[in-house]
Amino acid sequence: MSKGDNRIVRRVSVLTIVACFVLIMAFSAYISGHEHFHECTGDDCPICELVSICENTVRAIGTAVIMIAVFSFIAKTTNIIQSDEPVFTVKSLISDKVRLND
Ligand SMILES: [Zn+2]
Repeated sequence: MSKGDNRIVRRVSVLTIVACFVLIMAFSAYISGHEHFHECTGDDCPICELVSICENTVRAIGTAVIMIAVFSFIAKTTNIIQSDEPVFTVKSLISDKVRLND
């Protein structure tokens, strides 16, 4: 598999994951909004339980998106993860391959 194929597979995977997140988030928000003022039957109401699960899902996905955004920002700005070069380098005549003739 070539380097270009890996990029395409990676992009398709990321888009699939993002689409799943968006669909789950939209479904949970719709259920929470639509069933928020239902006629409650009291304890052990299945609709209240579903609304609670949807609210927790929206909260968890929101937290995950914030964490991913912060981590991506830090990784992009510091450039530590993607860099192949060492962080600290010592310059010397030998490392610069300077020939010393007498
Ligand atoms: Zn209820």
